Amino acid sequence: MPLISDPTWVATLALSALLLANSLVRWWLAGRQMRHIARHADQVPADFADSVGLPEHRKAARYAMSKLRLSLLDIALDAVVLLGWTLLGGLDALNQALMQWLDPGLSQQMVLVVAFMLIGGLIHLPLGWYETFRIEQQFGFNRSTLALWLSDLLKGLVLGLVLGVPILWVVLSLMTAGGDVWWLWAWAALVAYQWFVMWIAPNVIMPLFNRFTPLQDEALKARVSALMARAGFTAKGFFVMDGSRRSAHSNAFFTGFGASKRVVFFDTLLQQLDEGEMEAVLAHELGHFKHRHVLKMMLRGFVATLLGLAALGWLSGQTWFYTGLGVTPMLGTEGANQGLALILFMLVLPLPMFFLNPMRSTLSRRQEFEADAYAAQHARRADLRTALLKLYRDNASTLTPDPWYVAFYYSHPPAGQRLARLADA
Ligand SMILES: [Zn+2]
Repeated sequence: MPLISDPTWVATLALSALLLANSLVRWWLAGRQMRHIARHADQVPADFADSVGLPEHRKAARYAMSKLRLSLLDIALDAVVLLGWTLLGGLDALNQALMQWLDPGLSQQMVLVVAFMLIGGLIHLPLGWYETFRIEQQFGFNRSTLALWLSDLLKGLVLGLVLGVPILWVVLSLMTAGGDVWWLWAWAALVAYQWFVMWIAPNVIMPLFNRFTPLQDEALKARVSALMARAGFTAKGFFVMDGSRRSAHSNAFFTGFGASKRVVFFDTLLQQLDEGEMEAVLAHELGHFKHRHVLKMMLRGFVATLLGLAALGWLSGQTWFYTGLGVTPMLGTEGANQGLALILFMLVLPLPMFFLNPMRSTLSRRQEFEADAYAAQHARRADLRTALLKLYRDNASTLTPDPWYVAFYYSHPPAGQRLARLADA
């Protein structure tokens, strides 16, 4: 079969067009956001004039600009890396090199995927370092040290291998031996795996990175227990997490399945908010559970995984999927292309998926409004307002985002919209 046949060219063209469209739109959005923020940097929006000072507002603008400039670099890097792996022959070279010392088949493909992941992680490492030790540092949010950062990296790597290699082996084996509907079996395995990871996360994974100590504040405990009882939940323990070891950014969350949940407070949040505000923030989180947002998100994820695997099932059998993306497959050899197919799919999928962002983000912002409305009913509305104000201010979130940027990227509504909605009701 000739290496360059028509479908190969079509696939190459499609990839190039998708990559170009993706990069241009991302670049355009970042540029819009930068211009919008710069234009509004010298005046605090009227609704926030009482609560946010001009120096804080300017700091938020500079913080956003720094992160956006880094995102421009990220867009360029993503494009170069994708081209490097595919059309410039990086993945093919890696695959051929590994075949020098491993026979084509499952083990060789396992090593290929792991090597690909490690190289990808290494390439993005400098950006992660820069974000933590330059940007976050400069704006006073970083609390991490290089030693802690490196130890996190190492732990993440070991954890990724321990958790990732077995499921990778299962998926590649199913792709090899699962017949035409391997993707259905692989889906079942992935769903079960995700439940397993969620189940072990609070007790096994999270303690690797943070210390959880029982909350001492009896008054806050009583208050949150009462809130949870009103909402139909029971507290399975209150914990304080040492988020301040790494960052001054703050959060609160619940873990656990069903109606009984562990409540986890970042120590940074406890310093920022008073008791009433704490209750309002947790009421917001409970709102997400009451409206089944978490469950719905998981179910949507499962459906998306199924569709993705079905697409992969079809693509992995098409020669042009490999040749069009710069890779020579070994379609005659059992189990010799599964890793390649998986990698190419992971590389290409984000390009079209990006254009679904507005849909995903809109849905997410709607859920945030619902959770806010729930919190306003089950805790004090005024507390939620002041809590949100403090969180937006202390995290230096911009108060003046570009509407298009919001539409694509914002999982939470901009501060102005959220507070306006709380004021109306
Ligand atoms: Zn929320």
